[in-house]
Order: sequence, then structure tokens, then C-alpha cells
Amino acid sequence: MKEFNYLEIKKILPENVNLLAVSKGFLSEDIENIYRLGQNDFGESKVQEALTKSIFIRNTKDLKWHFIGRIQSNKIRKIVKHFDFIHSVDSYQKLLKISTVANEIKKTPKLMIQVKLANDPDKGGLFYQELINKWDQIQQIQGIEIIGLMTINPKGLSSRQNLRLFKECRLIADSLKLKECSMGMSQDWEEAVEAGSTWIRLGSLIFGKRFN
Ligand SMILES: *Cc1c(COP(=O)(O)O)cnc(C)c1O
Repeated sequence: MKEFNYLEIKKILPENVNLLAVSKGFLSEDIENIYRLGQNDFGESKVQEALTKSIFIRNTKDLKWHFIGRIQSNKIRKIVKHFDFIHSVDSYQKLLKISTVANEIKKTPKLMIQVKLANDPDKGGLFYQELINKWDQIQQIQGIEIIGLMTINPKGLSSRQNLRLFKECRLIADSLKLKECSMGMSQDWEEAVEAGSTWIRLGSLIFGKRFN
């Protein structure tokens, strides 16, 4: 794989593609370093890890936290409270729960629904048909803002297979009139951009090797 650093990637990304710096497994100093280069959006997949880091990071008011991990129902209150975006909402029940908490604490998190486009037992998400069947009900949920879809491709696909799945995600989002598609990681972000991603989620490519 070609090596890129943060600034090189920022330079070549089309204007409508946002970069989410995935800082899970990296330190708060790493976050501050990338923040100083102009990065505001950071993604974490564990609530406690994110909270611990955010305590150590100072003078970064414009920093936005994105939750990208598997959502445990008993953590939803904390997630809604501490994160500005949630990319990984993987069931109708969790949407309802998020809505309840969001209404209680008067906060409207921006949500993306995770879709499962390949049969990958390691990944969560709604299958296409489930999403379509539930879509009318989903749209009636009060106090949440659904801005797009998110998908994670299985590991080990060819470039062409990655591209095909990402294009499928883009098509579904367009058909539901959703603007955002959170797709593409260090291994497959170029295909995701080609397919119309609006949020690529990069960890190791910009931070280096993960500690854990
Ligand atoms: C860890 C993670 C990433 C970033 O992975 P890298 O391969 O380090 O770029 C992106 N999205 C999700 C959902 C992740 O859990």
C-alpha cells in the first residue's frame, strides 16, 4: 500500500469528502498533534477510552467526537451525551433508545445507520431489506437527525469488490435522500472516495501503528 501522511491525504481529498481521524488505540497526544494540523473530527469505538482522552485534551473546544463502535444499549446515554455524531447505529431498537435519551437531555446527535452489504458475521448493521422495510417507521422517530448511512466492508476484498459494495451504499443513501455515506478505511478509502463517500474513517494510515 502506498504511504500517505495526514496533510497529503487532506490535499488530495475532494472538497465534499470529510476525513474522520480514528484515534482508537492512540493517545491523547496523538490527537493533539493531528488537531494542530487542522483536524477537528475524531472517531472512537469505545466510550470509556474516548472519555478518558477527552479529559486530557485541553483548549480544543472545536473538537468533535464521533462514535464508530458497536453500540451497547447500556452505554447509549453516555454516547448521546458525549458524542456529536454516531456512525454505527445498527438497529431500529437502538434508534428508539437514542431518541428517548436525546429528548431527555435535549441534544440532537447526528446519526448514521450502519448497513450490512455483505454477509460478514463480524459486522453489525441492518441488511438492505430490513432498512427499507423499517424506513417509514424510522423517519417518524422524534428528536434525532439521520444524516446518512455507514458501512464497513469485509476484510480481504479486491479493489473492485470494495468499489462495488461502496457504490451500493451510495445508491441506497441516494434513494433515501440521505447525503452522507461514512465508508472507507485505511485499506479501502480510495475506492470509497471514488464511490461517493462523504466521510472516510482513517486510523493507522494517519496515526501510524496502533498500540493496542
Ligand atoms: C478502527 C476503525 C477504523 C479505522 O481503521 P484503520 O484501518 O486504522 O484506518 C474505521 N472505522 C471503524 C468502524 C473502525 O473501527
